[in-house]
Amino acid sequence: MFIEPQRNIKTGWIEVICGSMFSGKTEELIRRLKRAIIAKQKVEIFKPSIDTRYDENDVVSHNSNSIASTPVTNAQSILLLSNDIDVVGIDEAQFFDDQLPQVCQVLANKGIRVIIAGLDMDFKGQPFGTMPALLAMAEYVTKVNAICMKCGGIASHSFRLINEDATVLLGEKESYEPRCRKCFNEGIREEMFND
Ligand code: ZN
Repeated sequence: MFIEPQRNIKTGWIEVICGSMFSGKTEELIRRLKRAIIAKQKVEIFKPSIDTRYDENDVVSHNSNSIASTPVTNAQSILLLSNDIDVVGIDEAQFFDDQLPQVCQVLANKGIRVIIAGLDMDFKGQPFGTMPALLAMAEYVTKVNAICMKCGGIASHSFRLINEDATVLLGEKESYEPRCRKCFNEGIREEMFND
């Protein structure tokens, strides 16, 4: 379990929570943000406006434990909306444009605690968007895992159950399932066989 660092001087830093779908990334983001709110810190939460799965203005996790958020169309907007804020939370970071790492650096350099949640890999098992850069920059990295729907092992991959081309296909439960490396690779091989 992640424990917030105690720092005497006012300094910012970057935390990344990453993993596959159904791994509890958003739950962990919400947990940290709620603790910051309890500590009377000013918190602002952003998500890409592309992600409208559940609610326009809420970061909503799969278990409906939600927290109010602001949808933004690009990463630069986060800078404009983060004046006088102690903690910035960013959900679904993999869907933001390539300015996000630079934006997070500016925020952290200004003394803001930045907490980022995002998918580390896409449905092809490739690093997703700017997540690799964010992981490299972060002071604290938490990788969470789901349970493989095939074998019950530890899952780190998001396997897509339907055949569509867009990488930005959002994660409804029926479209994806978490899988371990072995079961993910077996699924990919079966798909190639069927094509
Ligand atoms: Zn498995």
